Amino acid sequence: HYGLTTFDEFLTYWGEQRPDGIALEDGERVTTYAEAERLTRQLIAYFHANNIGKGDMVAWLGRNSDRYFLMLYAAARMGAVIAPIGWRLAPPEIAYILSDTGAKLVVAEDAFLASAEEVAATLDPRPRVVRDDIAFAEVANMEPVDYAPPHENDPVLQLYTSGTTGNPKGAQLSNRNLFALRKPSLDEQVPWQIYGPDDCMLAVMPCAHIGGTGVAAIAAANGVRILVMPEFTPGGVLDAIVKGATHMFLVPAALQMVIQHPQASGTDFSNLRYLMYGAAPMPLELLKEAVRTMPQTGFLQVYGMTETCGTVTMLPPEDHVLEGNERMRSAGKAVPGVTIEVRGADNAEVPRGEIGEVCIHSPSNTAGYWNLPEATASTIDPDGWLHTGDAGIMDQDGYVYIQDRIKDMIISGGENVYPAEVENAIFGHPAVAEVAVIGIPSERWGEEVKACVVCKPGAELNAGDLIAYTRERIAPFKCPKSVDIIPEMPRNASGKILRRQLRDPYWEGRDRQVS
Ligand code: ATP
Ligand code: MG
Repeated sequence: HYGLTTFDEFLTYWGEQRPDGIALEDGERVTTYAEAERLTRQLIAYFHANNIGKGDMVAWLGRNSDRYFLMLYAAARMGAVIAPIGWRLAPPEIAYILSDTGAKLVVAEDAFLASAEEVAATLDPRPRVVRDDIAFAEVANMEPVDYAPPHENDPVLQLYTSGTTGNPKGAQLSNRNLFALRKPSLDEQVPWQIYGPDDCMLAVMPCAHIGGTGVAAIAAANGVRILVMPEFTPGGVLDAIVKGATHMFLVPAALQMVIQHPQASGTDFSNLRYLMYGAAPMPLELLKEAVRTMPQTGFLQVYGMTETCGTVTMLPPEDHVLEGNERMRSAGKAVPGVTIEVRGADNAEVPRGEIGEVCIHSPSNTAGYWNLPEATASTIDPDGWLHTGDAGIMDQDGYVYIQDRIKDMIISGGENVYPAEVENAIFGHPAVAEVAVIGIPSERWGEEVKACVVCKPGAELNAGDLIAYTRERIAPFKCPKSVDIIPEMPRNASGKILRRQLRDPYWEGRDRQVS
């Protein structure tokens, strides 16, 4: 299977080579590779019956489900485009994305059927909305069909960005994008890319995001099992590890809940071979706590974005050393096949060690956003370089240190402050459960640093103490000048802190300059 490059090829291959191997396990429903191979061809017949051809959009509105993954496989095999929509979004956000897709068919879980129908009624042409179990009962009665697979570069997955900095954008991804960096490897240097038949990937982050959907490409490429968790709960993740999940991806906020769950201390983590984490800055103290909790697990930090199909840099397990390793603060090096440059305002590479915008050249890069030619043009150069909007530093050895989003950078008294660095310094404070750092308007400094803190249950936090604590760790100009205690951290479904929601009230009626 080392020469294969598409869902179509991988499913055909594993359907023959590993027919009884489990492809998907979702509660009581277990699907082997032979069954997945056949079911996807029945789904293609169902798509045809619903007038879905190459390039036509099918939306999924539901939690993680084996049915979603089968629809993704079917779409990818025949060249339809599947758009999973985040069920945690507010109704107007769901309406925005669903209408943006122009989907002809919407498959929805029962709990989201009414909102899907409500939106569909406002659209012209009106899409057909079907409950997932009804759709799959119809699929079971279809004869598997022949079809012509798409071109490797045709879009098959339309994944919306997390909407952390603004409206979500639909990144169009092809078979080539999805598999370019995930092809099975025989390279002994990268043991985490070698999967055995008993490996099992947990699909637990939301499938509307690359961290949730990306596991599908890894599993299909390697013929391994996906264990589907409809939605994240920390206890559910702990149970899944005991039940045999060998690989998973968690965002930092989810990892924090897992290791701080009461059940964690009694859990045997030895099944978990590799834990990938990323999608948001990882506080060093939290990472160390996680490494101490799961000493037998290989930790892999990944950095990437929806537009790059996820992972483009990786920090390998051997860099997760508890003491005296500066590299544990980094997001690792470009994975094979990817080139990263840190560029300045003139679009030229800055010297190593200097800060600039992280730019990515990768076969996994999206060809562009759906319906947004201007955003596409300003993000992707004609020569294929993708501008991430993330500030970063590359060291002499090629390790990339993500500082933060350029839009979130605070300019205080002419100095640049990256919120993630300040959050990292505050995170270790014993009373702090969660922290976000923002810039608020200041007559004197232009902007000044403010920390918004959620306290640990029962803990008392004194602003003066917290500021003093921070001053022991980072330069005074980076330290917060004020602290807000907030009851809950605003986060999106990807677990990312919505700093703009915390910041906006302070900027009402003013323009915040973004460099
Ligand atoms: P939007 O583009 O709609 O504002 P988003 O950028 O959060 O939302 P995603 O594509 O899910 O949408 O996230 C990609 C971003 O996540 C990256 O650009 C980067 O800012 C952040 N990120 C990903 N991995 C890491 C990491 N390991 N460390 C720090 N930040 C990360
Ligand atoms: Mg983004």
